[in-house]
Amino acid sequence: MPGPENEMENCIFCKIANGEIPSTTLYEDDMFRVIFDLGPASKGHALILPKEHFADVTEISEEYAAKVLLVAAKIGKAMKKALGCTGFNLVQNNGLSAGQTVFHFHMHVIPRYDDGSKIVAWDPGTLDPEEAKKMQKKISEALD
Ligand SMILES: [Zn+2]
Repeated sequence: MPGPENEMENCIFCKIANGEIPSTTLYEDDMFRVIFDLGPASKGHALILPKEHFADVTEISEEYAAKVLLVAAKIGKAMKKALGCTGFNLVQNNGLSAGQTVFHFHMHVIPRYDDGSKIVAWDPGTLDPEEAKKMQKKISEALD
């Protein structure tokens, strides 16, 4: 049976966030659970999971959207103290093409160490001013 309700019943992150599936929890409050990523990009790589189901950032409620960065900051700060990382990346993927594999909103907190590893990196291109103007017009017209 397709439909959002069934999707949530089968959602692994709903089950983990709400404690139906046990996980190593770094932090929990009434809205979020923070766990370790099972395929870490670096030592201590964590995932912030909302306890409510949202497929991605375009669906997340304002309440959760406002809180998630505060939780990310709290976790990042604790990682610097506890793990000795010198920085951390917040990564949040939306859609298959962006690398999202579980369609329950989550934010990665990826500790960074001064080890030269490349985790979130790209080769900068150039921005054509004409193309920028066209894109600016199209995007501003598409804003809700
Ligand atoms: Zn879910």
